[in-house]
Order: sequence, then structure tokens, then C-alpha cells
Amino acid sequence: MKSLATKLIISLLGVLSVLGVSGFSFALDREAFSITNYDLNLQIDPAQHRLGVRGKITLRNDSSDPQKVGVLQISSSLDWRSIKVDGKPVQYLTQPFASDIDHTGGLSEAIVTLSQPVPPHRTVDLEIGYEGVIVLDATRLTRIGTPEDAAKSSDWDQISPDGSAIRGVGYVAWYPIATDVANLSEGDSLFEVLNRWKTREAGSLLKINLEDPRATGDSTAPIPVCNGKLARGIAQEGASSFAWAQCSYADLGHSVPSLALAHYGIVNRPSMTVFNLPSHAAAAEAYADAAEKAAPLINDWFGSFRDKAQTVDLIDDDSAPFETASLLFTPLANSSSNRAGLSAAHQLTHAAFYSPRPWIEEGLAHFAQALLLEQWNGRESAIDYMAKHRSVLNTIEESESEPGSPEQAKEEANRALVSTSNEALYRSKSMCVWWMLRDMIGPAALKKAIAAYRPDQDKEPSYMPRLIAAQTQRDLEWFFDDWVYRDHGLPDFKVESAFARKTLNKTFILTVTIDNLGRAGAEVPVIVKFARGETKKRLEVHAKDKATFRLETPAAPDEILVNDGSVPERDTDNNTFKVPPPES
Ligand SMILES: [Zn+2]
Repeated sequence: MKSLATKLIISLLGVLSVLGVSGFSFALDREAFSITNYDLNLQIDPAQHRLGVRGKITLRNDSSDPQKVGVLQISSSLDWRSIKVDGKPVQYLTQPFASDIDHTGGLSEAIVTLSQPVPPHRTVDLEIGYEGVIVLDATRLTRIGTPEDAAKSSDWDQISPDGSAIRGVGYVAWYPIATDVANLSEGDSLFEVLNRWKTREAGSLLKINLEDPRATGDSTAPIPVCNGKLARGIAQEGASSFAWAQCSYADLGHSVPSLALAHYGIVNRPSMTVFNLPSHAAAAEAYADAAEKAAPLINDWFGSFRDKAQTVDLIDDDSAPFETASLLFTPLANSSSNRAGLSAAHQLTHAAFYSPRPWIEEGLAHFAQALLLEQWNGRESAIDYMAKHRSVLNTIEESESEPGSPEQAKEEANRALVSTSNEALYRSKSMCVWWMLRDMIGPAALKKAIAAYRPDQDKEPSYMPRLIAAQTQRDLEWFFDDWVYRDHGLPDFKVESAFARKTLNKTFILTVTIDNLGRAGAEVPVIVKFARGETKKRLEVHAKDKATFRLETPAAPDEILVNDGSVPERDTDNNTFKVPPPES
């Protein structure tokens, strides 16, 4: 719950920002311009937590009207120093703008009046300067009631002498953006604003030049890490320092431009580089070893690595890990070797395989973790791991809409794996879907489908399902309908009946009928237990349908279990069945 005071502050800030622009006789369109190019020189002073930026940006008018006013936003802990066009200062107003797109819960907004209107689709170059501090700040989370510790472990970005790590849009506006207000207390508001910004930035390029931040007298320079292409210039005097570093971030629609700078130790292995804080050297070695061990499995499933994964240590042991493509920020201090292996398998999957669709990109990276556990400890261990993810699914599965109503149809389409923005779905549910597909068509066929995937040819939601269908004789359309194109919730299996009959040669013929009460079909394992043994059969049971099979057992069957846990299910209380004594 938001306190009354917080609400007042938010509404006051809202009033202020309206007052700030009331001098203009037209509505301010904050999302009219996108920024297509950034060329920024960064000066970072870790001891003072300071960031100073000078550089050039290119604004493009994405609206259908000529625009004379552009909006530029940076974190509220930074201040605008200058804005020029063609070397001449332009008129601009600055004001605070409350928005949860930045960790401080606010932005410093510059409303720039251009000397002449920019026609639709045309661009204008600006020279800009801004500076300030970036310190640990979780205001946007604490003001909506997140406990301080949890808030700080989530919003850990800061420039600090112990190590600096800052993420871009959605965390710290350390480079200018132009967005409408995002409010964490209003459902998907932040997600939607972020998504619009990233979509507009899809083809944009961000280049930074980083000056050697050493104070005079420091013997070694800190090491920069970024999730773009990094080039480093070596200073004349020695190889341990850099005169400059340059990083180019492309793919702004898909990744979050992030930057780290500290006196890292470096553990360099073929599949991964780990950057550790001085006290975590052993943990870094262990992490890199875990990655190397996981690498062959990842290559086998997802091909050779397109880029090299990077892992960057965080100062606070409680910081929540953050991934953007194959770069992972994580505190190395307390990672067990199991956790390291799982986390590395996920990262390496991103380094080997790319898809713009989250259910493929993230679903496969989580699926890789289950595969690794299966390789280590067998199938049950992987199923236990997936069960932890599935508990999340049970909480979101309930739909409150009338069955068969237009609202329900809309919800089903929104929650479909192919279009959902819900992490629990495109991570946890998708992982289970990949696992089921592997079980249904076999690993060799699924690997071939994955190898045939080309991200630039993925123009239709059905592209990946068609690649998979091409590798099997089986009809999978019902499966994709229930699990991928639409969200039909989870199946609910029940053993409806089972009876056994003794044969002349003293074996038993068992007939089992499985009922699926749910609205999603699946191929489910059925386990038949008898004295001194069990046998397993896989059975396709469509939504709201039944399926029957017969099976010969060497001894009288006594129990049937439907679903070994590999199919996510709504209710597993009705999954076992005692077989009545056989008729002879
Ligand atoms: Zn991931």
C-alpha cells in the first residue's frame, strides 16, 4: 500500500511537471522523438560517485507532425549543463519529472525549443552535457512499500570506489531517453513505457568513450566491462592501464546498455570471462570451471558460441542477479557450484543461440538448465527443478473470466507464449513446453529444429513450431494450439479406470483409461507398478478428452500413476489409482 504522503508527493510532482510546461500552448509529446545515435564521452569518478558526460546525439521525429520541441530525460541525480545545435546554445527548460523508469523514481527533464521545426522522419543533431552522481538509490521501490533490503538488492546500480555497475534504461537513465511517465504502482505501466522506448530504439546505436578514471598517483586502472563491443586503448607507460576504452552498444531494442568499472580480477576461459572483485578470486575460478563443464552440453543442443559470455561480480552479496543477453551481473561471493553450473548453462545458451521471441530465447535457456541437471543427476532431478518453476504457474493459472467469453479469449491470446510479456510464462511455462517437446519428438529431432532456426527469418509466430513439425511425422498442431498460440491453462489428469485380467500364460493384461479434465492436452507418462517392478507408457490425452491403452505385465498390477511430473498440471491429487484384484 502506498502511504497518503507518497500519493501526495507523486501527485504534487505531477502538478509541477504540468506547470512546467504550461507556458507552451500545445500538448507536449514526450515520445515524438527517438534517439537514433549517441556518441558520448564519459568521465567517471568512482571516489566521488560522479558521472560527467559530453557528447552528441541524433534525434529523429517519429511522429506524423513537425516538432519544434524535444524532450530529453536523464536520471534525477544528474543535471543538464548544456544543450547546443550547430555549436550554438538552444533554449531549454529543465524540470523534475516523476517516473519509475529510473531507480530514483524521477528524471531530470530538459524541454528543448529547437530553432526550427523538425519535419516527420527527419533528424536533428544536438551537442549535450550533463553531470551528477549515481549512488545506490531504491526510492522507486521503497515508496511503493518494498522493504528497504529487498529494494536495495534489486536496484543495486551505483558508481562507487569499491566497484561501479550501472544498467541503462529501466534502471538508470545514464544516457538521455524520451518517455512518458512510468508508474510502478499502476500494473504494467513501467513495462509498457519501457517496451515502447525499446521498440523505438531498435535500430539505434550508442557509443561511449570512457576516459581513464584514475586519480593521479593510482598505479593501476580499473577495468571496464560492457555488454556491447568493447575496444581498449593501452596507455604508453604500461599494459595494466588504459588510455581510453570505447564501447558500442547495438541492438538497443533487445538489450539494456550496461557498464561496469572496477579493479576486477579476470578469469578467462574459452566459453566465458569472469570479472571478479579482489576478494572473490576463488569463487570466480569455480564459476568459470562450472561454465566450462556445461559448455559441451550447450554446444550439443544450441550450436557453437556466437559470442563469449561475461560474468560481472557485484559488491553486495545480496544483490539480485541481472542478465542482458549473455552478460550476467551476479554476486560471486556465495554461489555454490550447483548454482554456478545452472546459471552458467543459462548464460551460455544465450551466447550460443539468439531469438527475438522471449518464449524461445528465455524458454530454451531455462530448458538448458533442466538438461544440465538431468545430465548430472538424472531425469528426476530435472523434474524436481521444473516443479519449483511450476509452482509459479499454479498461481497465475486461474482466470476470473467466464469460460468461453470474449474476455477469456482475449486473456488466452495475451497470455499465449508467442506474445506474452509475463516472465513466469515465457520463462517457467516455456521451459516445460520445451521439455515436453523433447519428450514427444526426441532429442535428435528437437536439436535439428533448433539448428535450423534463423532469427532473421522469424517473422511469424508459427515459424519455430513449423521448424519443429518438419522434424517429426507426428501431428503437433493441437499441442501448439493449447500451449504456444493460446494459453489454455494446464491439463488435469485423472485415472478414470483400470482393470486387469489374467492370461492363460500367467501374465496380466491391463486396460487403463486416463481422463484429462483440463483445457490443454499433453502427452503424459503413465507408470504401472506391480510386484518387483514397474513399466512406463506415454499417452497422448487431448483437452477435455480421454484415452485408453492396454498393457501386458508379468505380475498383477497394483497401482497406476499418471504424470511423472514432466507435464505441468493443475491438480495432481487425483493422479494415483489402486488397481482392483485381477479377474482370472
Ligand atoms: Zn536469460
